[in-house]
Amino acid sequence: MSTSPARVEIDAGAIAHNLDLVRGELGPASRLCAVVKADAYGHGISVTLPIVMAAGVDVIGITSNPEADEARRLGFAGRIIRLRAALREEIEDAGRLDIEEWVGGGDHAHAVIAAARSLGRPLRIHLSLNSTGLCRDGMDWGDPQSEAHLRRIAASPELSVVGICSHFPCEDADDVITGARTFRDQAGAAERLLGAPRGLLEKHCATSYAALSVPGSRMDMVRIGAALYGDTSAAAPRLRPAMRLVSRIAAINPYPAGSTIGYDRAGRLDRAGRLAVVPLGYADGYPRTLGGRAGVLVRGVFAPVVDRLAMNSLIVDVTHVPTAGAGDEVVLYGRQGSAQISSADIERASGTIAAAAYTAWGRLNPRVVVNVPVSEPTPTP
Ligand SMILES: *Cc1c(COP(=O)(O)O)cnc(C)c1O
Repeated sequence: MSTSPARVEIDAGAIAHNLDLVRGELGPASRLCAVVKADAYGHGISVTLPIVMAAGVDVIGITSNPEADEARRLGFAGRIIRLRAALREEIEDAGRLDIEEWVGGGDHAHAVIAAARSLGRPLRIHLSLNSTGLCRDGMDWGDPQSEAHLRRIAASPELSVVGICSHFPCEDADDVITGARTFRDQAGAAERLLGAPRGLLEKHCATSYAALSVPGSRMDMVRIGAALYGDTSAAAPRLRPAMRLVSRIAAINPYPAGSTIGYDRAGRLDRAGRLAVVPLGYADGYPRTLGGRAGVLVRGVFAPVVDRLAMNSLIVDVTHVPTAGAGDEVVLYGRQGSAQISSADIERASGTIAAAAYTAWGRLNPRVVVNVPVSEPTPTP
């Protein structure tokens, strides 16, 4: 048992609830790919995958080989899709994990072909198109070489194309509508150039936001990450956040009016006050930009973080919470009683997306799983 005062608490029941809700919302027409990259967005593949498997979902999205390896060790026998272009060496190392690779353009196809040759068997691939204008790893339709690339991919016995994909740059409905329309056209043309019978290849571009906001973006498969964990900007109010970041007050002291607080004397007490030290700092993944801007919950009351953060501690003003004492629970993200520090709160204070913070919290702090659903995971066929 860890003696660390800080921990991330994962609500397994919330993940199960969110998965259920998303499936209900999307209906059976589009296959669901559950995205568990970045150790399930910091929530733990070991926590999330059994829930996904129990629900009968048989496609998951990962990025790294260790994630795919963990999924196989947990008994997942379904399809694993890598959601980014991989290095040739990574693909070779992943041979026995049976990953469907994301082909990020004509050049990258060469690397995947080389990996397939050294593995001695064809690889199942998803061909990424730049239809949405992300310009990260998709083949651009305007590239004069694109037709030649497609014909070469079609003629390569090392590649077995199973899907055509794209990825949106913005969580904005108009942007998604336009991008999805372009993708549908280009994917159809790519299918013809690849010589595949119409409708055979799986076409997919939608993430949580797109799938929940623009039904026309769903196509054959949707790749759902954020919504599983209860954090999406799509209007899906019944999703439940699945993570809390929690620590405890280690000590409280009174300080006189006019005191400066913490490193660089960045904070200041305008009146006499009581300051609590909380053992959690930037080395634990709490962004230093939140110092002086974010707040926490103590006894169900909002209390501001008043220093610039240390490596492993931060300072909270609890002057207005007279009952606060050493040992009290401090919630830095999530609910405490009827109060909540939401993703939007973290985003407003930090100027960046909440996922940039909580994916790190989950990997840097001990994880405790609560509210585990009763059903046993069943391996997928
Ligand atoms: C992370 C990722 C997703 C999932 O996106 P969410 O917004 O978390 O649902 C889907 N597709 C790709 C390519 C990704 O990298």
